[in-house]
Amino acid sequence: MKETPQEKKIRQNLQESGISPQGFLGEDERHIHEIVATDLAVLERLGKTKEEIADRMEFFSQEAFSHYDGNVIIDQIYEIEYDTVRGKIPCPFDHPGLFRKGEITLNNLHKNLKISWTPLNIHMIRAHGFFEGKGAKHRLEPKDLIEILFK
Ligand SMILES: [Zn+2]
Repeated sequence: MKETPQEKKIRQNLQESGISPQGFLGEDERHIHEIVATDLAVLERLGKTKEEIADRMEFFSQEAFSHYDGNVIIDQIYEIEYDTVRGKIPCPFDHPGLFRKGEITLNNLHKNLKISWTPLNIHMIRAHGFFEGKGAKHRLEPKDLIEILFK
């Protein structure tokens, strides 16, 4: 697939030392469109939309932000923690605006499964259907997210 100049810029942003030192692609060499299409196909198979997932992540994140020590249990199932990291990061897809760094960890106590994400992950899922490349530091497997976010 031939890249447009804009796609090239985005790919550079996503690579190591583009916007973040570790990058967003891991060892994934697929075209960004293919990464997104593959993950969206998983969502479709499991009957969830990227918006439903992003809304759920946003809900848990807001709960974590609103508790000063960043630790809260919801519905006796979901234990949420927030680790603050100083600084902000832009969207690698060249959107305006900055996202706070830091990491939200959700522990589903019923299933004993845990997953962590950043505010940028939520944006990239909602706006771009992008869960990051295989092997990336904050790669989120759609299947795992669905398993953990929804009872
Ligand atoms: Zn964006």
